Amino acid sequence: MLEIKNLHVKLEEEDKQILKGVDLTVPAGEVHAIMGPNGSGKSTLSYVLSGRDGYQVTGGEAMLDGRDLLEMEPEERAAAGLFLAFQYPVEIPGVGNMTFLRTALNAQRKARGQDELSAAEFLKLVRERGKALKIDAEMLKRPVNVGFSGGEKKRNEILQMSMLEPRMCILDETDSGLDVDAMRLVSDGVNALRGPDRAFLVITHYQRLLDHIKPDVVHIMADGRIVKSGGPDLALEVEQNGYAGLLAEVG
Ligand code: ADP
Ligand code: MG
Ligand code: MG
Repeated sequence: MLEIKNLHVKLEEEDKQILKGVDLTVPAGEVHAIMGPNGSGKSTLSYVLSGRDGYQVTGGEAMLDGRDLLEMEPEERAAAGLFLAFQYPVEIPGVGNMTFLRTALNAQRKARGQDELSAAEFLKLVRERGKALKIDAEMLKRPVNVGFSGGEKKRNEILQMSMLEPRMCILDETDSGLDVDAMRLVSDGVNALRGPDRAFLVITHYQRLLDHIKPDVVHIMADGRIVKSGGPDLALEVEQNGYAGLLAEVG
């Protein structure tokens, strides 16, 4: 589903190479985790995949379902089925959560050549999906993320994901600053959305998130490359020996 080959990326502002040949393949139906020390380029990878400004691809490729992601505008990437949950969810004062969700969903449906949902259809869907995530009607009416607790923001992000039904979901350090309950909520949400036609890339610092979201493959990123890949045990190894030991071993 997601195929990244020898991806090189530098910052547009400074002449600084961040990604130095990332190779990564995530097949449909699988959950892959990326771990790695601070500054290794994990967030840069997710930003570049989502099409954020400020980065220049200097080599390699990134394909989603055989289509060149790097050629697409950010909205086209979302329509193609890419979803990114960010470390810091954006607050949008003045825009109701439901309005935001409906606009995002209909924009995506339009880009996919599907009819827009009517107000009634949308309401039915958002209530149904919200209920499954214990999101009440009041929270759906509040402005997007404004005054939401950390846990509520996460729940809302999972709701966005479940409404948009993406093919490829990338979660970047969604666990930073989360308490145990909120972490549980994110993992339950991801697990509920797992399926044969969907894949996940979970970027995390903590092994404990991976206790709940059992990844098929764990990758270690260091200095702009994937330096080691393995099964879920690799995350335990990181927890026990730290990155230093592991990286010394890889050279
Ligand atoms: P990670 O998510 O693994 O912690 P990042 O992708 O955030 O790593 O950062 C990788 C490197 O790129 C770091 O050295 C960081 O300081 C640098 N970097 C990323 N974005 C910028 C930016 N906009 N300006 C300056 N340096 C940046
Ligand atoms: Mg970081
Ligand atoms: Mg990061």
